[in-house]
Amino acid sequence: MVRCDACPVLCRIRPGRSGACSRYANDNGLLIRTDPVVLLAEAVELGGPVVPFAENAEDWDGKILPANRTFVTGIGSGTTYPDYKPAPFIVSSQHEGVDTVTVVTEGIFSYCGVKVKIDTDRHLGPETAAVRANGEQVGHVTTAEYGSQMLSLGGVRHLTGGSKKEGNATCEAMLKLSNGEAVELTIDGGHGVIVQAGHAPIVDGKPETRMRVGCGSATIGIFAKQWQGHVDEVIVVDDHITGVLTEHQAGRVLDMKPAGIRVRGRKSTPGRYFQVAQPGLGWGGTDITEPLSIIQKIDAALAWPGMRLLMTSTTGEDSLYCVLDENLLPVEAEMPAAVRQVVERIGENCEPSLCTVTFMAGAGGSLRAGVTENPVLLTRSVQSGTTRVTMGGAPVYVWPGGGITVMVDVLRMPKNAFGYVPTPAIVAPIEFTLPRELYLASGGHADEIVPMEEILRAHGGQARIESAVAENPWPLRRDAG
Ligand code: SF4
Repeated sequence: MVRCDACPVLCRIRPGRSGACSRYANDNGLLIRTDPVVLLAEAVELGGPVVPFAENAEDWDGKILPANRTFVTGIGSGTTYPDYKPAPFIVSSQHEGVDTVTVVTEGIFSYCGVKVKIDTDRHLGPETAAVRANGEQVGHVTTAEYGSQMLSLGGVRHLTGGSKKEGNATCEAMLKLSNGEAVELTIDGGHGVIVQAGHAPIVDGKPETRMRVGCGSATIGIFAKQWQGHVDEVIVVDDHITGVLTEHQAGRVLDMKPAGIRVRGRKSTPGRYFQVAQPGLGWGGTDITEPLSIIQKIDAALAWPGMRLLMTSTTGEDSLYCVLDENLLPVEAEMPAAVRQVVERIGENCEPSLCTVTFMAGAGGSLRAGVTENPVLLTRSVQSGTTRVTMGGAPVYVWPGGGITVMVDVLRMPKNAFGYVPTPAIVAPIEFTLPRELYLASGGHADEIVPMEEILRAHGGQARIESAVAENPWPLRRDAG
């Protein structure tokens, strides 16, 4: 029986078995990390293939993969909980003539969450509504951004502040999303959505395809000139700002004749209307499926028989072309080719709808203590940009202000970079890279520094080798990103 002390659960693990999180096991009385450590290899010639490691660690000669082009990630590195102990790997290497140290660990994050950006016009649910996974609240709907709906999932309150079931559902949803798996979410008072990083969202079973080109007003602005001469009025139906061409500044500038069509909703500025309908899965994120229903009245003093009216959504997926009859009633007609071309161009200008998952975490004091004996110096050094933080070798966004609060796009990290412990908390790789001189000056664990060559000799044979994600700046390249 061995006792794992890598998290507060303190599992007692029988020989041949693994602990509650499956990350540690008892191998003949020895506590081992079950996943191999992940090394990132920068291809020798940029874009070239990665050379696999030798089968046997003992045979490793350190030459196939140069130490200065190899980066030890936190994935599989293990945790030193509580972090009065130095981090599992403190690696020294030479980079562009600078003696560098990289402190590598798997952080156990209770203070962490996942921000999900869903490119869609569809209304997923009201702001602040509960987002659920397996019936448990795991987060909430937050602000809508331009063409996207944001969800905030996880966070310490759901992980620790509710029932055990809520904590576990939250941890599971975050873990899956962070590892690039699909998760089905439901929103109170809203809809169901399947979210997977890098994939289109599936809203109530229907895959989303396009991200809107802009709001109704923006769409009017972009395409006004192209409609001129082909239609007399265009109404772009949108949940947030519905645009009416001849009233809009764009129509005025083009000297378009007022068409006298008044749409429902609250007029904001000329040609821009709010609240034309309820939010929904219909045209432009409204609940409208019959677009003519948003027309409140047609002014007989301004409109005329034969007037050509186009209605479209902000993605061009829905459109209707009408001509006013002698009673000034819109009658659907075949859309002329020139008008269709502009509607198609709206679609062409829409980007593919994707889900983006960013993992956000605060590296607490104890994690920092695994890096240096005087943790506040690490914080300052990260904040000033002297210490580069990466997660699984991927660049992070460091939030301004106190502490080390970082955000990372999970798709820029190697596969299966995340784990969990049943406290519950998420386990994520994190690396701090800084010049050796500064590391020592900030109270770094000097005795624990191991040269990269030695790490390769000791762990190279068992390591998982990944080539660095192409768009990432090489972790140790000081002049990049
Ligand atoms: S849950 Fe995992 S990390 Fe925590 S003590 Fe058990 S085996 Fe170790």
